[in-house]
Formats: sequence, structure tokens, C-alpha cells
Amino acid sequence: MGERGALLPGATLGVLGGGQLGRMFVHAAQAMGYATAVLDVDESSPAGLVSHVHVITGYLDERGLAALAEAADAVTTEFENVPAAALDQLAASVPVAPSGAALAVCQDRAREKAHFDACGVASAPHAVIEMEADLAVDPSLLPGILKTAGLGYDGKGQVRVNDQSELEAGWEALGRVRCVLEQRLELAYEVSVVLGRGADGAIVHLPLQENVHRDGILAVTTVPAPSATPAVADEAFGAAERIAASLDYVGVLCVEFFVLADGRVIANEMAPRPHNSGHHSIDSCDISQFELQVRTLAALPLGDPRQLRPAVMLNLLGDLWFPGDGDTQQEPDWPAVLALSGAHLHLYGKTEARRGRKMGHLTLTGETAEAARDTALAACAALGIAPF
Ligand code: ADP
Ligand code: MG
Repeated sequence: MGERGALLPGATLGVLGGGQLGRMFVHAAQAMGYATAVLDVDESSPAGLVSHVHVITGYLDERGLAALAEAADAVTTEFENVPAAALDQLAASVPVAPSGAALAVCQDRAREKAHFDACGVASAPHAVIEMEADLAVDPSLLPGILKTAGLGYDGKGQVRVNDQSELEAGWEALGRVRCVLEQRLELAYEVSVVLGRGADGAIVHLPLQENVHRDGILAVTTVPAPSATPAVADEAFGAAERIAASLDYVGVLCVEFFVLADGRVIANEMAPRPHNSGHHSIDSCDISQFELQVRTLAALPLGDPRQLRPAVMLNLLGDLWFPGDGDTQQEPDWPAVLALSGAHLHLYGKTEARRGRKMGHLTLTGETAEAARDTALAACAALGIAPF
């Protein structure tokens, strides 16, 4: 998508995928006076439930894609694994951002790492495993983490392998699909950068986020990042900007980084869309990551998403609905949480709670970083989330 005129409020913005990211995009678009169109196969998808138009079909239904292109003046995605054919069909009749070419890089861990390398950004030492012979890896990669090259999320599609025989068994267990074996690094902490890049090449970013994962799923994001030095922040911002610019990226992009004990900043992976670690921005920044997505898609000025107040974001997983050992479902104690000053509750409208499922998030803001953290710890205690 080259430079084009702005799409003004009143136009219709489309999104592929109806999950919580699509829902928060729809909220931001509607707040600015846009109509929205969502394509998702689930008739009660979180975004579909709140959109003006909901095309209820899968990504490969040509008639459904034609209906989305007809309804929308521009289309973005909330899901990186949209098939290339779907994007190609849409792009033939409506502006699509980010491009299919950018998505293709993000869809495959090996291509992603090659792109980091081409941008002069370090990633974990790794090897691509495509066939039996590739299992004869450099022993320095073990112990490692074997990850499917495509379709992984929230720690799914990954196995920790300590030695050569576990590597062989792990590849078997993952179905002998194309994988990347990464050396397991000793992480000091993890950070992420969410940026927006316009069709004119302008880039703005959210403040650096520090992230704690539990069982491979994001649990806590703290902003400003308490562990990061200014040098680490500058390096992460610079790397993310180079990665976006060299993809000629248009839209919101997130890059996740590992920081090692010696201060080295290593790119982990990227997501071609708003990211769970940027959800705090709805309540803590001048411009949220979803408004940024609207602005990039509509070719509007990007503004300045500076932070207004310190924040901690807690993910609300379905586990919170099952406080006992059994299957008895119970609504978490929201009044107790909302009694805390600075608590912002976001629930995604999912009808069924399941363990490990992202049901919502809670952002706790404060006058100071310490106050936001104290409130977040009080919220953890009220909800039965392990403290951080
Ligand atoms: P997902 O796509 O599921 O988010 P990631 O590759 O980001 O998968 O891995 C999830 C988490 O697992 C990371 O945020 C990090 O905590 C841990 N992890 C992943 N790769 C490595 C590695 N090479 N060394 C150490 N920890 C890792
Ligand atoms: Mg990740």
C-alpha cells in the first residue's frame, strides 16, 4: 500500500478476525466516528458482537471476503495467520495494511529471524529443522526450545528439549513439521515495543513495556519498564523501528525482546498487530495501540502516544472463573477489584470461561510506579492471581 489520502470518520474500517484485539480495534474506530466490518467464522466473536457489520465466515470463503471488501474502505488484521490467498483477494479491491508480504515474514519464525538478522538485530542462536537430517544440530543449541515455525501462540507449539534424544522425540511430538530450535537463554527480563508506522513512513511508539510470562502466556505488563536502562530502551526502540521500516510496514507492529544479564537485547518474535503487552495504553497513554491502528489504517497523522501515568496490566485468564479444583464456575469478585482506585476492567464478552483462555485484562494506574504496583498487588490478592 503506497501513500494514499486519509479515510475520514464516517468511512468503514474492516478487520480480519473477531477476537479481543479486533473488538478493541472496533471500539477505538467507533469512538472516532468510523463504522466497522469484521470477518470471523464465530457468530458470537468478541469483535463481531460490537461491529456494525459482521461477515460470519472463514478466511478462505471468497464470497465472504468479497462482502468484506464491499463493506470496508480499508482492511487490517488482528490475526497474523490469515492465509496469503485471503489477503491477495482483498488487496485487489481495497487497501490492506499491513501487507501480505509483511504478514508472511511474521507467520514463520525462521523467516522472522532471518529478517531480524538482515536488520542487524540479534536473535537467539537457532537452527531450522525441516527434515530428519536437520536434527544433527550444533550441540551448543542444547538445552533448547523447539518451536513450530508457524501457528504458535501463548506457548503452544513449543517443547523444551535438554539433549539430542529429547530433540528427536520433541520433533516427533510436534508432528515433524517445520520447526526452529532455539538455544535456551538465561533471561534477565523481557520487554516489548509497540509501534505504529504510517504509509508515509512516519513512526511513533508506545513506552517500553516489561513483561512477565507464566506457562508461556503473558501474565503481567509493567510500564514504565522497571528493569530497563535507557540504553536497553534505546536499543529496543531502534531495533523495532529498523524492523518495521525495512518491511515497509504500515500498521501497528509489536516486537518482543529478551534482555540478558549482560544487558544484551535479543529479538524474540514480532506480531503484525496490536499486542497483549500494549493493552495498558487504553488507560495509561494519550493514544492507545488500537487508536494507533485506526490512524495508520485511515492514513491519519499518528499523534504522540506518550504515557500519562504509570500502569500495570494483569491478564485475566479463564482459570480465575474456577477458584476450586473442580468444574464449578464462579464469577470473579469484580466489585472488590473495582473498589481499588485506578482499576480499569476490560472483559472481552466471551461467553465460556476455559482455563488458559484470555477472558479480559485489568489495568491498574497510579500517580507513581510504586502506587500502580501496590494497587496491582491488591488486585492480585482480590482475584487469586499469584503476585509478581
Ligand atoms: P509465543 O509465540 O507463544 O509467545 P514465544 O517464542 O514468545 O512464544 O515464547 C514464549 C515465552 O517463552 C517467551 O516470552 C519467553 O518467556 C520464553 N522463551 C521463548 N524462547 C526462549 C528462549 N530461547 N530462551 C529462554 N526463554 C524463552
Ligand atoms: Mg511471544
